[in-house]
Amino acid sequence: MEIADIKKIESNIDDFSEQMYYLMKSMYPICRSITGNGVRQTHDIIRKIIPIETKEVPSNTKVLDWVIPKEWNINDAYIKNSSGKIIINFKDSNLHVVNYSKPIKAKLSLNELKKHIHTLPEQPDLIPYVTMYYHEDWGFCMSHKQFLQLEEDEYEVVIDSSLEDGSLTYSEYYLKGELDDEILISTYTCHPSLCNDNLSGVVLTTFLAEILTKLKRKYSYRFLFIPETIGAITWLALNEQKLSKIKYGSVVNCVGDSGDFTYKKTRQGNSLFDTAVINVLTNSNHNFSIIDFTPTGSDERQFSSPGFNLPIGNIMRTFDHNFPEYHTSGDNFDLVKGESLAESLLVYLKTIFILENNCYFLNSIPKGEPQLGKRGLYNSVGNKQRKKNSILATQWILNFSDGSNSLLDISEKSKIDFETIKESADLLVENKLLKKGSRK
Ligand code: ZN
Repeated sequence: MEIADIKKIESNIDDFSEQMYYLMKSMYPICRSITGNGVRQTHDIIRKIIPIETKEVPSNTKVLDWVIPKEWNINDAYIKNSSGKIIINFKDSNLHVVNYSKPIKAKLSLNELKKHIHTLPEQPDLIPYVTMYYHEDWGFCMSHKQFLQLEEDEYEVVIDSSLEDGSLTYSEYYLKGELDDEILISTYTCHPSLCNDNLSGVVLTTFLAEILTKLKRKYSYRFLFIPETIGAITWLALNEQKLSKIKYGSVVNCVGDSGDFTYKKTRQGNSLFDTAVINVLTNSNHNFSIIDFTPTGSDERQFSSPGFNLPIGNIMRTFDHNFPEYHTSGDNFDLVKGESLAESLLVYLKTIFILENNCYFLNSIPKGEPQLGKRGLYNSVGNKQRKKNSILATQWILNFSDGSNSLLDISEKSKIDFETIKESADLLVENKLLKKGSRK
């Protein structure tokens, strides 16, 4: 991955913004869950962009301390009043049915029906997203406003779903680099029509993989599209022998709103990945906050459980409960924009750019400063466009390239962005003032 690659992507950012938004639109209507045809359909769309390999793990398979549940599929669901009017229709929003509801066909009084209805009294216009994976029951979700209007009546309730032995679907995409050392990028494909959590993560991961496929890579990359929690547990259970190769990584979720960036650090808190992300955000024009690892949130909980302890961070925008639309019908295209998706993609790419290019150099003329002027490396001789910052970067690199500071260390010390440091280092190598070194 070269400086020119990053610059090219940056100059095409509007195209990415459009394409990412379009991909999200195509996935939005599908009713996904932790298993079932909605997941397969979503992975079929991803497979048109990157050649993911899809695995099916049978129901009842024991995975770590868990068991793969039955597979859930749904055709239709509605509630009709006694005059035959449909008052809740699954076809209008797949959030209307509690995810993993068992099939039901019954006539109920209002009081009986109410026991199975979920609403958000605090956000009366929104439909909540509710799941019921590990105990068999059924339910509907609706806006609290609509709930208050329900009248005494006999209601016909139909959920045409199936909960049967089947399999859990997950997909993986492996990209070999020069090294066997891997960077893991994991996202979850189990949420139905919800944009920020987590179609944004699915779309970003797909595009990141597509871009990296075409670039020269030092690291190998592994991309996972899995159902949250049970998918991470399944993958970890089946792939334990691969884990020692994973050096860094990120869980990708909540990357599509226009809020400030949030970086949740790895469990280690001081890995190269942490430094790289914070360096990128510090040198960007985005506002951001850094939070320590917590055993809450998404699949970092599994990857960084003590028995695995992988250094997996999480680069997000506004996350989880911090946006009011979280897990509601409000998490839609009013919240998520193509532009924000593309900005987040760039932060991921710039972080990867650092990991790909960070290395140690040695100043070839360490006694006194080498004369830059006669080599066209000082002032604007040779290239009028060279920024003052690059000259400053040159001075920092020459002084600190003594075998104990990497390019990222020098970027940190000088407060000059990594790309400028890398560009100046390339120039110094060209002029034989810098040679590859290894860490002292
Ligand atoms: Zn969620």
